[in-house]
Amino acid sequence: MSEQGAGMINSWSKIRLILKSRLGKNIFKNWIESIELVKIEKKSAFFNVPNSFIANWIDRNYRETIIETFKNEEIFIDDILFEFKNKNSLPFSNEKNIPEKRDNNLSNIKNSLDNNNIELPSSPLDKRFTFERFVVGKPNELAHAAAKRVSEIGPVTFNPLFLYGGVGLGKTHLMHAIAWQIKKTNPSSRMLYLSAEQFMYRFVQALRFKDMYGFKEIFRSVDILMVDDVQFIAGKESTQDEFFHTFNALVEQGKQLVISGDRAPGEIDGLEERIKSRLAWGLVVDLHPTDYELRLGILQSKVEIQSKLHPGININNGILEFLAHRISSNVRVLEGSLTRLFAYASLVGRPIDIDMAQECLADILRISERKVTIEEIIRKVADHYNLRMSDMISARRSRTISRPRQLAMFLSKNLTSKSLPEIGRRFGGRDHTTVIHAVKKIEELKNKDLQIAEEVEILRRMLEA
Ligand code: ADP
Ligand code: MG
Repeated sequence: MSEQGAGMINSWSKIRLILKSRLGKNIFKNWIESIELVKIEKKSAFFNVPNSFIANWIDRNYRETIIETFKNEEIFIDDILFEFKNKNSLPFSNEKNIPEKRDNNLSNIKNSLDNNNIELPSSPLDKRFTFERFVVGKPNELAHAAAKRVSEIGPVTFNPLFLYGGVGLGKTHLMHAIAWQIKKTNPSSRMLYLSAEQFMYRFVQALRFKDMYGFKEIFRSVDILMVDDVQFIAGKESTQDEFFHTFNALVEQGKQLVISGDRAPGEIDGLEERIKSRLAWGLVVDLHPTDYELRLGILQSKVEIQSKLHPGININNGILEFLAHRISSNVRVLEGSLTRLFAYASLVGRPIDIDMAQECLADILRISERKVTIEEIIRKVADHYNLRMSDMISARRSRTISRPRQLAMFLSKNLTSKSLPEIGRRFGGRDHTTVIHAVKKIEELKNKDLQIAEEVEILRRMLEA
């Protein structure tokens, strides 16, 4: 990138931050986050946007704010213009565009088929979503292994592969990884990846232009079909119907299907029973919420990428551990916080330390904060040491009880925001000085005794999980 280009992108990241605080998090996330500044030419800023719907909306509602924010940064523009990221997919565009789109889509696809050209109408693939960049841990190892197997295009052993899990846990990443791998090792196989929304869009277009023949021809001629976020077609009857027939036709021909959803097939409301049962035919694998180790691993691997983008900015392992502890299981949020830390550090020229991280990520940390209660702590600690809850708050002083009790007080001080007197009260009406003593005692022991340190750590993780 030219120096000027790099400068422009830097100002854009700064302007984005300002827009975020001016417009608020939600508006920012819904509209501004997905657009990218491409160039500034003749006093116009050109943005890349996902579709015309977003472009229209931004133009109508945020045009002035954007221009003004640029101005405050001494970049003087008087117009904002839009280009579309993916010209083949304009799900929200208005009527008058449709005939042209039809040319772009279906007839092109048909031509390419007739020409025996293997380019299929796949949705764009994210360059970063490869197997190399997928960090494997306990919560996702099965999904990863299954995806790898499919990408080898061996004999079809399970069909479909159904991947499911909450948002941001890596479903799309794994599907793109399969696609990249196949492109690399089996470039001649006919692989088609698209979201269920795209599937519906193409289906509706085919109906509208009476081109069901072309539609079927395309979808039934692939070697591997991947449909992301299948829950999207729930409640949409005719699309489901077509999906069902496509599915059957491909399975009959021994072609591989990979489908993802936000929950198990049986739990997707509004999906026909026959489809639910088809989806459960093959291998159903879920991506579990990430655990601490996986989050740390992911952070470590993403740091390498960020460090290349922001040379000279360092982040130590302590901060990564802090983030892995404190940020929820959604990997997208985890990644976003790292990006933000590096951007912030390079914009304001401040090293990344705990204070800075806490300040810069206050919103994220607040949401992710799990509210652990003193009751939970008492229960977990009692369970762990085979005691009764009543022992924990009793007046008994034998070592086997008093030590776990002190530990529970220590954890209450560290994991909740309750005051010392409040904690004392919950432990059978003890004085706050008793709590102070317990906290000191455990801190001391932790430093001397590895086993205690480890137990504290284990309990803390169980409570924070
Ligand atoms: P989903 O489709 O399940 O909502 P994505 O596949 O879009 O989630 O993942 C969200 C983000 O998190 C992406 O940027 C992806 O690269 C990243 N991500 C998720 N899981 C991992 C992982 N195990 N290793 C590396 N990056 C991951
Ligand atoms: Mg996804």
